[in-house]
Amino acid sequence: MTEVTTARRLLIIGPPGAGKGTQAQRISDALGIPAISTGDIFRANVSQETELGVLAKSFMDKGEYVPDSVTNDMVADRLAADDAADGFLLDGYPRTPAQVDALDGILADTGRSLDAVILLEVDLDAVVERLVTRGRELGRSDDTAETIRHRIDLYVEQTAPLVDVYASRGLLRRVDGGASIDEVNAAIMAALAR
Ligand code: ADP
Repeated sequence: MTEVTTARRLLIIGPPGAGKGTQAQRISDALGIPAISTGDIFRANVSQETELGVLAKSFMDKGEYVPDSVTNDMVADRLAADDAADGFLLDGYPRTPAQVDALDGILADTGRSLDAVILLEVDLDAVVERLVTRGRELGRSDDTAETIRHRIDLYVEQTAPLVDVYASRGLLRRVDGGASIDEVNAAIMAALAR
């Protein structure tokens, strides 16, 4: 057996439209760990019209964050599943300082901690254009010009401060998200192996 040295308990952070979902899927396939996207879990609940979905939709359609009480419990449940025991990649969570604390608690309760945090750095003007295109192509109801602007503002206010938190813990790996999908993926895998 070869020793597993690559980081396996991971977060990917970046503004809306940075390409987190695309890269998360690649990393998940490469490392054999589940990619856990809070946005995807919410969207699945919205389409199945669950109670959680109805609640989440009322926030998502305005570009607001779903309340922490709901989101934190959902993540705790997901991280308790067997497939996350040996590693995971969280995409879109944590998004606020309070969610950072909640995640620390969830992991500490199960004797785990984070190995690395990938920051996808992209130009904010470029992401608006990407998101408008995605809204048109995928029909995502939160990808309209107005909500996009609001989501980016929220990211800058509430999520960008997480970068300093994880940098001070020595976990941050900065990757230029402006290159091609393959190039970004290669840069991420190299950053994780360091
Ligand atoms: P994007 O990164 O493009 O905004 P996501 O799929 O990550 O897309 O999130 C879509 C929406 O789902 C967010 O605008 C928010 O309403 C909700 N959401 C996702 N993750 C969280 C979270 N950690 N906390 C609160 N709301 C969240």
